[in-house]
Amino acid sequence: MSEIYRNFIAGEWATSNNAIDNINPSDISDVIGQYAQASAAQLQETIEVAKQAQKEWQATSLEKRQTVLNKIGEEMMARSAELGELLAREEGKPRAEGVGEVYRAGQFFTYYAAEVLRQIGENADSVRDGVEVDIRREPMGLVGVISPWNFPTATASWKIAPALAYGNAVIWKPANLTPASAWALTEIISRQDIPKGLFSLVMGSGAEIGQNLIEHPEINAISFTGSYQVGKTIARASAENFTKFQLELGSKNALLVMDDADLDIAIPAAAGGAFGGTGQKCTASSRLIVHESIHDQFVERMLDATKAFKVGHALADGTQLGPVASEAQLNANLDYMKLAAEEGCEIAYGGERLSLEHDGFYMSPALLLGGNNQMRVNREEMFAPATCVIKVGSYEEGLATVNDTDYGLTAGIITQSLAKATHFRRHAETGCVMVNLPTAGTDYHVPFGGRKNSSYGSREQGKYAEEFYTQVKTSYIFSGSPF
Ligand code: NDP
Repeated sequence: MSEIYRNFIAGEWATSNNAIDNINPSDISDVIGQYAQASAAQLQETIEVAKQAQKEWQATSLEKRQTVLNKIGEEMMARSAELGELLAREEGKPRAEGVGEVYRAGQFFTYYAAEVLRQIGENADSVRDGVEVDIRREPMGLVGVISPWNFPTATASWKIAPALAYGNAVIWKPANLTPASAWALTEIISRQDIPKGLFSLVMGSGAEIGQNLIEHPEINAISFTGSYQVGKTIARASAENFTKFQLELGSKNALLVMDDADLDIAIPAAAGGAFGGTGQKCTASSRLIVHESIHDQFVERMLDATKAFKVGHALADGTQLGPVASEAQLNANLDYMKLAAEEGCEIAYGGERLSLEHDGFYMSPALLLGGNNQMRVNREEMFAPATCVIKVGSYEEGLATVNDTDYGLTAGIITQSLAKATHFRRHAETGCVMVNLPTAGTDYHVPFGGRKNSSYGSREQGKYAEEFYTQVKTSYIFSGSPF
């Protein structure tokens, strides 16, 4: 029997009665390991210890906190090849993407290590004579982090790093599909010089331990990335306890390709944005809105680009598109392909399950043509390696189509017109806008988030993360007279 990877409870590795198998989606005969499932009692135990640990951490010197974050980040970057391979093995993205993700995750820690020393408040004179006002930020306390499987290390790191930097304790529930990456990051954190119980790992299903975490009255803040449906559940549970919460949810990102687009920019942006990460990115370009005068040329070249993707085992050399993450996701994707045909799309290429050398959840990248913006495939987040071309007759119609969605995470435009690009930047109803770039691909030192049903609460990443992981205190000081 393979090793059972344990949870990290109250500063100790803890066994559980239940464990799940972690299966490689590139080769379902490959069991990566067994991962313990935390119980409600273990969650309670770790919360009790975390309360004291957080107080100690808040009182720990800034330089020591900075050192801890730097060490975590530097180890992740140094081990990105090894940990990236593990990530690719359990999630299914090509090895290079896995390595890049772990390296980026390390950068979140080193970025927030520097932010530890930039926690600077404000001061003011009171309206009352002789009274000064001090305005500073304090940690929220106990932060629950709930992360998805599509970026199992990066998403968790852009939450955990600022949570620790700003003086909080963290209780992390990762996605059950990708526990190995979570366990590996926890193992690094467990070796740091931090108060016992400051950081906890509670692996288990969302419906059980996740639900226990979001309903727990002693959790002060919850940061979540995942589906819109679960986001709503978290909003309801948080409202009940007045828990601060932040949600990054689904999306239906569009790339608008204008009549003056340089196709040498448009095609890689569209193909990379649509199919990178096997289409399982919250920033994926799942609608390609193309001006009619360039439509046929665009489609011809996009078809070639789609066919050129090499689908394969995540760890095989040359693989550009791995399997999708799970059987459930594959079945949902294939259902969407049926729906696309029923709704009147032409599936110009792909959208089929592939049988390769290893038995895995492989699907060919799908290019849908002849779509309109009212079709369900253009309104619902598919999270599939599939994208749909929608033809429009003008910039105005293109912009209106981009904005005609319940979501609002990213939007992009490909144009050589400064005027159109500027107008688009100012009028796209999304949290992120890309000009002559794919809709996917963001930096770590600037804010990330969306509008409408894509996000709720304050922004993640960069300095903006401070808003979520801290609370403001205003102090009034009367010093009296020295004379
Ligand atoms: P979920 O929203 O179900 O999962 C995200 C995280 O939430 C996981 O850790 C999950 O745990 C946890 N979770 C699930 N239910 C609860 C709950 N009641 N309380 C607390 N935590 C919970 O997404 P899925 O993984 O099921 O993916 C479904 C769809 O969601 C995708 O097809 C995609 O459309 C969208 N999605 C979007 C993401 C994005 O980045 N915008 C990321 C992931 C998904 P566990 O998985 O262990 O059950």
